[in-house]
Amino acid sequence: MMSTFQDRLRIPWRGGAKQISIDSALPIVLQPVLAYIAAQSVWCTVLVSLTMLFGMCYLYTVFVRFLPRTKFFFVWTLTSAILLLLVFEFNVVPFLEIMPHENCVLIGLVISSGICLYKVRTRAELNFVVHADMDEETELACSVCRRRVPPRTFHCLICQGCVVKRDQHCVWLDCCIGDKNHQLYVLGVLLSVGTLVYGAILTLTTVCHPSFYIMETVLLPDDCSDVYHDFT
Ligand SMILES: [Zn+2]
Ligand SMILES: [Zn+2]
Repeated sequence: MMSTFQDRLRIPWRGGAKQISIDSALPIVLQPVLAYIAAQSVWCTVLVSLTMLFGMCYLYTVFVRFLPRTKFFFVWTLTSAILLLLVFEFNVVPFLEIMPHENCVLIGLVISSGICLYKVRTRAELNFVVHADMDEETELACSVCRRRVPPRTFHCLICQGCVVKRDQHCVWLDCCIGDKNHQLYVLGVLLSVGTLVYGAILTLTTVCHPSFYIMETVLLPDDCSDVYHDFT
């Protein structure tokens, strides 16, 4: 029954429906439920945040051991981004307190960080050592696959390849960060943090009253204690 269910689990994609595994589909179900629970009260928010933090650490250790190629964390990133954007555009913007130019700046930030992180993924392929091109003079050998590699190359057990100047395997983007995509990765992370902070400020100044200015430019929320009374 499980395999039939697994076979039926498909999402519409260009060039035909794409099959998606159960672990990858989990965030799509889990996130709206967690968001719903978190919106009930302050303590629910604290509880959901802590559960997510420890839950992620636990799931990471489980997936690394038993299912290293899982797309769970990557789908989690995508679902979070889409959910946040939907909440912002359909629940915050209709309050009509956000100026059109503020919305445009936020959409611009979302698009630029999205493009940046997409390029990090597409460029990840270029990090792998092409063994046919290797200089025979190189004395170094990869400690895992025993093939000749340039200096500062590390083998990724998830990607199953030797990655030049490997920084880390980023589960949230489901690719290795190395020589060819490291700068884009840093830029993408900074842009994403900027987008999240800006989106949070716009959202909180809309739903919390009253708000105040710091340095006469940045509007910040003052008292947000009554936001839980209105579910939306
Ligand atoms: Zn290797
Ligand atoms: Zn990797």
